[in-house]
Amino acid sequence: MPNPWIPELLRLFWVLLAATLLGAVLRNFPLGWGLGLVAYLGFHTWQLRRLVNWLRSGKTRNIPEAGGIWGEVFHFLYQRQRKHQQRKRQLEDILERFNEATSALPDATVVIGRKDEILWFNEAAAGLLGLHSSQDKGQAIDNLLRHPDFITYLNQNGHGGEPLRMPSPVDDALTLSVHLINYGRDQRLLVARDISQQQRLEQMRRDFVANVSHELRTPLTVISGFLETLMDSGDECAARWQRSLDLMHQQAARMQHLVADLLMLSRLETDRSSPPRELVEVPALLAAIREDAQLLSGDKGHHVTLEADAGLRLHGAERELYSAFSNIVGNAVRYTPAGGEVQIRWWRDGSGAHFSVNDSGIGIPPEHIPRLTERFYRVDTGRSREVGGTGLGLAIVKHVLTRHNARLRIDSKPGRGSTFTIDFPPERIA
Ligand code: ADP
Repeated sequence: MPNPWIPELLRLFWVLLAATLLGAVLRNFPLGWGLGLVAYLGFHTWQLRRLVNWLRSGKTRNIPEAGGIWGEVFHFLYQRQRKHQQRKRQLEDILERFNEATSALPDATVVIGRKDEILWFNEAAAGLLGLHSSQDKGQAIDNLLRHPDFITYLNQNGHGGEPLRMPSPVDDALTLSVHLINYGRDQRLLVARDISQQQRLEQMRRDFVANVSHELRTPLTVISGFLETLMDSGDECAARWQRSLDLMHQQAARMQHLVADLLMLSRLETDRSSPPRELVEVPALLAAIREDAQLLSGDKGHHVTLEADAGLRLHGAERELYSAFSNIVGNAVRYTPAGGEVQIRWWRDGSGAHFSVNDSGIGIPPEHIPRLTERFYRVDTGRSREVGGTGLGLAIVKHVLTRHNARLRIDSKPGRGSTFTIDFPPERIA
């Protein structure tokens, strides 16, 4: 590209020459140069005016024709404006595609600013959350979504990643799963999904299990009752069938345990309210559980010990806590060979109250530990049945603990024994 300053300097040279010649003709050089300077300045002012008019018109394409340094200036500005417009068009394209994609999303998506104000939302947010495009932008989200659980969820900044279930403000029959995600600078994304169908299926499954268990309970009680009467009758016929009657009675008792556990589990699953805050005398509860464990051990002679902080009590549901503790102690006895040790401990420290059961039993291979609290998950199904297990004990424990904001830890070595520890937060201590 030729240097634009050369024509510009040439132009200056010609103006100076013309001014000098004019000065010679007029016999007054300063006047000639003065006129030359005025002409030169006039030329630049005219070019400046063209530049301003061109910029004002906004018609980038109609670039003014000019030579020298002014041609360069017009050319530079023209290039800049073109690049700027191209970038703007690209950004508009991206924004349009993003808008199309988010509008097509079935989940409601809302962008929330630093002061909880609504910055943007997609179309689904209208149907699921009842937001309306023009008037709701800029409003605080908790003014529009007023469910108390949602307000708590928002203030806690999303329960550490856990979604919240709440009814839709548009229609109570719709259940939403709401997720709050932090991103960018002080911005949050709220995603709400309609999970009514999933909720209905879960409810149907729970109702089905609860109904079947309920229906089975009465026939089982009758069968068990008659078997006991028969066995106790001292009848000659019954004596001949003694072994079969024993087996029938054993199996009926197993089914009764299973039904009782299923009913307990379905009650825990259905009851979403927080557990009652009764004052639970844990040391007395554990003393009773220790005696039950000794009875369960029978002639197997387990050595069951209890070490408990006599003044340490909890706020919670006594029946549920009894069930959780006795399931863990019962397992320790059932999965520890005759004559083994079972130690029950109950103590407190700075992090809260703790319950632990340590046994010298068969232990659990590490790959099974994460799945033990699933329903019907057993390391060895045959063995579990043999010792009268239902496969539901630890699932019940997990539900009870969730309701009491407590946590279960399992530490075990195959062949060396296991330790099950429950940690209760300090707020639960009475
Ligand atoms: P179950 O009724 O079969 O005992 P649980 O849910 O109580 O069901 O326990 C699940 C599985 O965890 C058991 O089948 C058993 O394999 C294993 N388990 C639980 N507690 C112990 C323990 N103390 N020692 C060894 N294995 C255990």
